Amino acid sequence: MRFDILTLFPEMIRSVMNESIIGRAVENRIIEINAVNIRDFSRDKHRKVDDYPYGGGNGMVMMAQPIYDAYLSIVQNLDYKPRVIYMSPQGRVLTQSIAKELKENNSHLVLLCGHYEGIDERVIEEIVDEEISIGDFVLTGGELPAMVLVDCVSRLIPGVLSNEESSIEESHYNGLLEYPQYTRPYEFNGKTVPEVLMSGHHANINKWRRQQSLLRTCHKRPDLFSRLELSEEDKKLLQSGFDS
Ligand code: SAM
Repeated sequence: MRFDILTLFPEMIRSVMNESIIGRAVENRIIEINAVNIRDFSRDKHRKVDDYPYGGGNGMVMMAQPIYDAYLSIVQNLDYKPRVIYMSPQGRVLTQSIAKELKENNSHLVLLCGHYEGIDERVIEEIVDEEISIGDFVLTGGELPAMVLVDCVSRLIPGVLSNEESSIEESHYNGLLEYPQYTRPYEFNGKTVPEVLMSGHHANINKWRRQQSLLRTCHKRPDLFSRLELSEEDKKLLQSGFDS
C-alpha cells in the first residue's frame, strides 16, 4: 500500500515513519510512505505557503496553489485517482473499523496535513474525498494525525506485523478490549501471574482471556460493551467467576 503525505514538515514524517515496525515494513517494501513537501511547490520567491484570512481574524491560512500543485505532482503519472484524505478536526473520527475499511478499499492514500488556521476551502473542495479526525480536540498540525492513520492502517496489512505481533486479538478488533497480558518474572512486587496462564491448558486460557476481555470492556468502556451481541457462553462467563 502506498501513502503520500502532503506536509510542510516532511522531516517529521520521515523521522517517525522510518522507525520500528512501520520502518521495517517500508524497508521490506510492504508499504511505501512518501512525504511530499508542499513548500517545494510555492511560486513565491520566499517559498511562502500561507496568507492572511479573507474577512480578517486570527492566524494564517494555507494557500490553495502550492497544495494543489503538490497533489498534481503525485497524480500526474497515475491512471487512477488515489483517495485523498484531509486530516482535520472536522472529519469523521478514526476508528478501527474505518482503518479496516481504508485498508480494504484502497491501495494508495494521499493524506493532506493542514497547519495554522487550516487550508483554503477551495483546494479542499477540489481534491479531498474525505476528512478524518483523530479525536475531538485540536492539534497544531495534521502530521501527527496522518502518522496515526498510516500506523493504524498499515498494521492491518498482511506482513507488516509478524505472527507474534498479530492484531487479531487486540483491543477493538472485535468490539472488545484485550485481556490483561503478563510476562516474566512470575512474581513482581509480590504480585503473581494468574494461575490459569501457568496451567498450559489452552482451552481454559482462552476461556479466561475471553472472560477478562468482556469484564474489561464492561468496566472501562461501557459504551462499547452496550453494542456487543453476547453469546450464551459470554453471558455464562460474565455471571460465573472463572474456575481455573
Ligand atoms: N481552524 C481549524 C478548525 O477549527 O477546524 C483547526 C486548524 S488546526 C490548528 C491545524 C491543522 O491541524 C488542521 O488543518 C488539521 O490538518 C490538523 N488537525 C488538528 N487537529 C486535528 C485532529 N483532531 N484530527 C486531525 N487533524 C487535526
